Amino acid sequence: MEVTTMKKHLVVLGAGPCGLYAALTALKKGLRVTLVEKENAPGGLAAGHKRGGNFYDLGVHMLHAFDQEIFQDCAEAMGEKRIEVPLKAHIKWAGKLYHYPLRGRDILSGIPPVTLARCIIGLLLAEWKNRFSPEQGPTAEDALQEIYGAPLYEVFFETFTERYWGVHPRDLSAEFVRRKMPRLSAVDVFKNALQRLGLSKPQDSVEGALRFETLHYSQQGANELPQSLARQIESLGGEILLGESVNRLDLEGGVVVTDSGREVVGDSFLSTLPLSTLAHSLRAPVDILDSASKLRSKPMVVFGLLVKKERCMKALYTYYRDKSFHRVGEPKNAGLKVQPHDHTVLIVEKTCEKGDGAWEMEADVLDQIYDDLEEEGLCSRGDVVECHQLKAVHAYPIFDLGFEEHLGAVQAFLEKFQNLRSTGRQGAFTYPNMHSAMRMGADAVHELFPE
Ligand SMILES: Cc1cc2nc3c(=O)[nH]c(=O)nc-3n(C[C@H](O)[C@H](O)[C@H](O)COP(=O)(O)OP(=O)(O)OC[C@H]3O[C@@H](n4cnc5c(N)ncnc54)[C@H](O)[C@@H]3O)c2cc1C
Repeated sequence: MEVTTMKKHLVVLGAGPCGLYAALTALKKGLRVTLVEKENAPGGLAAGHKRGGNFYDLGVHMLHAFDQEIFQDCAEAMGEKRIEVPLKAHIKWAGKLYHYPLRGRDILSGIPPVTLARCIIGLLLAEWKNRFSPEQGPTAEDALQEIYGAPLYEVFFETFTERYWGVHPRDLSAEFVRRKMPRLSAVDVFKNALQRLGLSKPQDSVEGALRFETLHYSQQGANELPQSLARQIESLGGEILLGESVNRLDLEGGVVVTDSGREVVGDSFLSTLPLSTLAHSLRAPVDILDSASKLRSKPMVVFGLLVKKERCMKALYTYYRDKSFHRVGEPKNAGLKVQPHDHTVLIVEKTCEKGDGAWEMEADVLDQIYDDLEEEGLCSRGDVVECHQLKAVHAYPIFDLGFEEHLGAVQAFLEKFQNLRSTGRQGAFTYPNMHSAMRMGADAVHELFPE
């Protein structure tokens, strides 16, 4: 008698970096895999977007090699299409371009002497206070003041944070500072200040080490990585359903139903969808839906410009603190192939709200962007040949004050389902880079299907 062993079937919801790598991990474990993705291409936030003759990233996306196993798998999938790029990033602060990440010394050098003296006294006071009463306050404002002292918080963090996130630090959780904000340790700031006074020798910090990182990219920009992973998934027998938005997830019946009415049957489910979308698809109780709705994300838009210039900037990207955009990238500097070859592409990033002027691409917003680009000496309006807009609703999770309670409620509800894992940037409501999101996907597969 012939015996057939049925492979266990994993259905992965969402084909961003997390879902793609989870699918690959599951296939290598010998599982049957189907990916369900609402967009018409894989990649999620890291997808490439072809407009006219060129590729535009949703914010220049480059792969880090910090996780060697993931890096090797991605490198194998991309083959010769992978380009190595030395990290060269800038930040505009106090009228000058500095290397990014900005070091404490750079911050202090941009501050007028009297304010600088206040900042140093503030830092000393904060250090002293932390030593004798190490209790931490609940808000991002508390956390920033505890680390940097009140004056440096006011000069450097307060207004910028509110402008970027649309939320004052006093309404954000202290967790936001721990997980998202680039850390300039008070110790580093002190050492750098002492160094300026000639009282300490220059030291290499962690930030210093990061400045020499090598990143990984392609001539098609971010597009090549998800496309390569998708090709590998299909070559291993995985199925990718594009243009299918998850509508209902019935875990008892083991079936996903999409908006188009398509049904995908599976044994286990790995979701990388936003938690509110997942909760709705599970027809969760009202209190869970309510908690999920309180886990807000910051939307962003990208204006992808084709510019009639060989080059606009020296760095791969530059952060701006007081312009209408917060970052401008020039992916040609990382190896993006641009048509015509004597043109370049600028990726202009701006956080926004759904439906506001930036989201709707209103003329006055574009005017301000062109004015700021010109003021920064990047390009003039007449140089811009094409302008394409890309949008993301779930770009950055917002850690509103008290978000932990809502996240905990949703996670406790999801934990009841043995055949479901919710992970990745949206599914865990966190801030991974691509490789960390991929690691989260692989870990979730191993949890669902232990050896
Ligand atoms: C501006 C910006 C720049 C970045 N730059 C870098 C960088 O240079 N390097 C780096 O390593 N990381 C970078 N990141 C982080 C990186 O984009 C994310 O960590 C990564 O994309 C997270 O992958 P994910 O699969 O968890 O989530 P996502 O990429 O958000 O994927 C979720 C997927 O679920 C799909 N989905 C949603 N709803 C449904 C539904 N109802 N049905 C079916 N599918 C659905 C979405 O379409 C999407 O494809 C950047 C992020 C941003 C915002």
